[in-house]
Amino acid sequence: MQTKQVLLRSIPRVDDVANHKKIVAMMSVSSRQVIMDAIRKIIDQRRTEILTIADRADTSDTIVNVDIECIIEDVIQEIYKSNAMHLKRVINATGVILHTNLGRAPLYGEIKESVWEIAENYSTLEYNSLTGKRGSRYDHVADILTKLTGAESAMVVNNNAAAVLLILSTLGKGRDVIVSRGELVEIGGSFRIPEIMAQSGARLVEVGTTNKTHFYDYERAIVSGETGALLKVHTSNYRILGFTEEVALDELAVLGRTYDIPVIHDLGSGALIDFAKFGIEGEMTVRDSVASGADIICFSGDKLLGGPQAGIIIGKKSFIEKMKLNPLTRAFRVDKLTLAALEATLRLYFDTEKVMTQIPLLAMMTLPIEVIREKATRLCTLCSDQNEMCHISLEEGNSQVGGGSMPLQELPTVLVKLKPMDLSVKQLEIALRQAQTPIIVRIQKDHILLDVRTIDAHDFEYISNEIKWILKNQEV
Ligand SMILES: *Cc1c(COP(=O)(O)O)cnc(C)c1O
Repeated sequence: MQTKQVLLRSIPRVDDVANHKKIVAMMSVSSRQVIMDAIRKIIDQRRTEILTIADRADTSDTIVNVDIECIIEDVIQEIYKSNAMHLKRVINATGVILHTNLGRAPLYGEIKESVWEIAENYSTLEYNSLTGKRGSRYDHVADILTKLTGAESAMVVNNNAAAVLLILSTLGKGRDVIVSRGELVEIGGSFRIPEIMAQSGARLVEVGTTNKTHFYDYERAIVSGETGALLKVHTSNYRILGFTEEVALDELAVLGRTYDIPVIHDLGSGALIDFAKFGIEGEMTVRDSVASGADIICFSGDKLLGGPQAGIIIGKKSFIEKMKLNPLTRAFRVDKLTLAALEATLRLYFDTEKVMTQIPLLAMMTLPIEVIREKATRLCTLCSDQNEMCHISLEEGNSQVGGGSMPLQELPTVLVKLKPMDLSVKQLEIALRQAQTPIIVRIQKDHILLDVRTIDAHDFEYISNEIKWILKNQEV
């Protein structure tokens, strides 16, 4: 019978592991610090495992393996784990196109040159190379934004939540801001109109009811000298259906002009193209919002625009200039990498045809069902030699726009359905998301669904190989 002491003493010493040729070879891919930390961690783990064995247990039966070769294998795994980026790409097989947890809109790959050029060099971020004087970081995208939207002026901050707060603080601080009760939205649990309003120092004046708000509701709430703005919020992530009434943006704009009060439109999603042309209804374009007469409009860069995270503010020049002077602008200022990615993305919109295939979000949203079916069939065929371990078939279903956009929109799709025989659905789901490049899937009842709409066909081989590997190697 081995005692714990014997087992503890047989753990290799840190130096013996460090000097082993397999570990010395790791010096070419990793720093000494990472290697030594990995060795200490694995050895400590072995020691703890031995110490937790019950005192009277026969340690020769235990599964604590103190063999140096085994420890070295674990150390090498640990080194790779520490060297891997914590923020890493995943394969989105959920079919939710704007998945907030998975980083919302993926960017067009070809813009990486433009972004990298700015990332690894000095740039004209706040420098005007014509005059040799200080420039503004807001100038780089202002022209493009005004051309694409028809607005007078534009600026960009960190995200749309910051944009709303900045606008309310600039136009509404210490004053009333009138909003319909049907538009007091909560987006993603932390952005709530009443709370943003309180934070900005504006006084929220709610008018109308949840389902019906009339023109006269707004008009009666206006108090001369007290009302700072009228706010219309796009109900991005819900719809009020049935017996409803709201005041259209153009009518609200008329009211604002009559009383000389600015009208703010929090558009949320920020569609620069008309999705109705593709049978996707219910989203006002940014250009339509400008044409309706809103004075200040804000929207996200990474929702329906398909760009990087950003909050875009467009509208009357006098208001935009006032906002640039607000100290919050400094706190919300946009980063140069974001600006480079945003400018490069916006430039794609000048070619209205190409943009539909270049920006991944637009391509995924308008992917024809025949193409989806063909993709799904291909993935299904790649996986299907596993049929004795997992039942694989195609199924009709829907993808979602996500990201708090177009909540009712169903995008018909074709799904690859996996029903493992020896593993539980949960086990397969866990193994897929714990793969080196995580594969994030949908679980439905007793099967797993892969929606090819949000999967790049280049990843099919990796996915099918992972599935095969998991089915062969996982134990129930
Ligand atoms: C998404 C959204 C926001 C918040 O935008 P972020 O870019 O996520 O900060 C604000 N208002 C509306 C109406 C939205 O849809």
